[in-house]
Amino acid sequence: MTTLTFSSVYGPVKSWRYGRSLGIDPIGQVSTCSFNCVYCQLGEIEHQTSERKVFIPTGHIIQDLWRFAPWDVDIITLSGSGEPTLALNLAEILTRVKELTHKPTLVLTNGTLLSEPTVRAALTSADRVSVKLDATTPDLLRRVNRPLQGIELTDIWQGLELFRAEYEGHLSIQTMILSKWDDKARADYIARMKFLAPDEIQLNIPTRPKPLKRQLDGRENHSHGESSYAVQILKCVSAEVLQAFKTEIENATGIPVSCAPAPSN
Ligand code: SF4
Repeated sequence: MTTLTFSSVYGPVKSWRYGRSLGIDPIGQVSTCSFNCVYCQLGEIEHQTSERKVFIPTGHIIQDLWRFAPWDVDIITLSGSGEPTLALNLAEILTRVKELTHKPTLVLTNGTLLSEPTVRAALTSADRVSVKLDATTPDLLRRVNRPLQGIELTDIWQGLELFRAEYEGHLSIQTMILSKWDDKARADYIARMKFLAPDEIQLNIPTRPKPLKRQLDGRENHSHGESSYAVQILKCVSAEVLQAFKTEIENATGIPVSCAPAPSN
């Protein structure tokens, strides 16, 4: 565990997609998520759960947020040390952040709780929601996202469809491509995207090294230079493979697709 002092607000970090982003971590010191993705920048998830609770009181987060006034950023992003929809005070945090800063808000979620009406309702307070969808098959979900037992791809997909029907903000789908997908996987993905019709798709590759143990600064951007702790560099597909998939999706669906820039070293 890192010895850095914990603050529930961090950054700003520079995001290739969203510009200058101030981060809010509603989860706290112990990394907590319903997934344990092989590429997670937090390291191995310390507490895997689907149980929602208040991890950090909203008042505490707002106090930390004041230290960053006047919030000279493009967006305020809720992600941090795990899955933000596990925070039972998510709606309250989003509302108070908006009242205070008047900045656009974004929630990055793994989508595993979208079948819960209260989670979908909480997310309606966000201007943007970005949902992770890395797998087209249960096997890929197991291998890449390593979910808590009982989490099934069909449930994630159903929750996502319900959310798409209800949510009036900007919905993007984030997909991490670790290895080249075969024709069937690409066709399945494109069919799902056509049906879902998100506002945008983002194709990602693991541009950050994965810490072997939990590091608090995993919440923020890593440089690709040396880290003071042990990391694992993950293999990624080439920029050409990513670009070809982007073009294939755009041609088939008309949905704009953006690609993560390749690592610089
Ligand atoms: S969903 Fe996000 S926080 Fe959770 S394990 Fe995957 S990458 Fe890490």
